Amino acid sequence: MKRLTTKIVIIAIAALVVVGIAAYFIWNKIKADTTNYSQVVTGEDIQTTKAVESPEPDTRSEVAVPILMYHHIRNYNDPADEIGTNLSVPPENFKAQIDYLKSAGFSTITFSDFIAYPAKKLPEKPVILSFDDGYQDAFDYAYKPLLANGQVGVFFVIINFLDRPDHMTKIEAAEMADSGMEIGSHTLDHPDLTKLTSEKLTSELSESKSILENLTGKKVISFCYPTGQHNDFVDAAARDTGYLVATTTQMAISSTSENKFTLSRLRINPNDSLTYFADKIVNYKP
Ligand SMILES: [Zn+2]
Repeated sequence: MKRLTTKIVIIAIAALVVVGIAAYFIWNKIKADTTNYSQVVTGEDIQTTKAVESPEPDTRSEVAVPILMYHHIRNYNDPADEIGTNLSVPPENFKAQIDYLKSAGFSTITFSDFIAYPAKKLPEKPVILSFDDGYQDAFDYAYKPLLANGQVGVFFVIINFLDRPDHMTKIEAAEMADSGMEIGSHTLDHPDLTKLTSEKLTSELSESKSILENLTGKKVISFCYPTGQHNDFVDAAARDTGYLVATTTQMAISSTSENKFTLSRLRINPNDSLTYFADKIVNYKP
C-alpha cells in the first residue's frame, strides 16, 4: 500500500514537470508570434508613411480660398468705442460660423497648406480663419472651439503684447502651435510699417519671426501688416525676411493666383447673420 502511494506521488510530480515544460515552450512560441506580428505592422506603417511623402498634386488651375479676418471674439458693445465694437464677434456667432463651415463641407487650412499648392492637393472647399493681435478672448473663444471641432486657424500675434492684460500669454501661443494652429507674426510693436526706417522695418520683421520660431519650435511663414499698412518696399522686405505670405485688410475672396504678399481677406463683422456669412465667403464682390 505504501509503495503504491509513493508510485502515485512520483507519477504526479512527473506529470507536473511535463506540463510545466510544455507551458514554457508554448509561452515562448506565443511571445515569438507576437513579436513577428508587431514587426509586420511596423513594416506596413513605414510603407504608409512613404506614400504620404509624395502627395497628390492639385490639377485645378486656380482655387478660391476665402481668408476670414477676426480680431476679438467677445460680447462687446460700447458706443464710445466704435472701433473696438466693430472688431468684436460674439462667441456664439463664431461657434455657429465654424459649425456651419464644418457641416457645409469647408475644410479649414493654414497658410502652410495654402503655399503647398499645387504640389499638394488642397481640400475641395478650403477656408483660412485668421485672428489678428493675439487677444486673450481669441485663445478662449476661437482656439478652444476650433480645437474641439477638429479645425485649425492662424493667429497673428504681436510679440511685445504677449503676456499683457487682455492678450494671450507666450505659453498659450506655444500651446496653440503644438495643437496644430499656425502662429504668424504681426510684428514686435504693431507700428505702421510704411513709416519706419529700413533698419527698424527689418527688426520688426526679422526679430518677431525668430522670437516666434524659438517660442513655438516651428518655422514662421506668415505675416500680417499692422492695420493693413504696406507698400512695395514693405512687401519686398517681408519676402526678403523669409516670410512666404503676408495678409492685408483689402476686402476680397483670395485665391491661389493672388500675389502672396498682398493677400486679401474678408472681415467678419459682429452683426453678420449666419445666412449673410454663408453667402459672403462664397460670393463676396469688392
Ligand atoms: Zn493688428
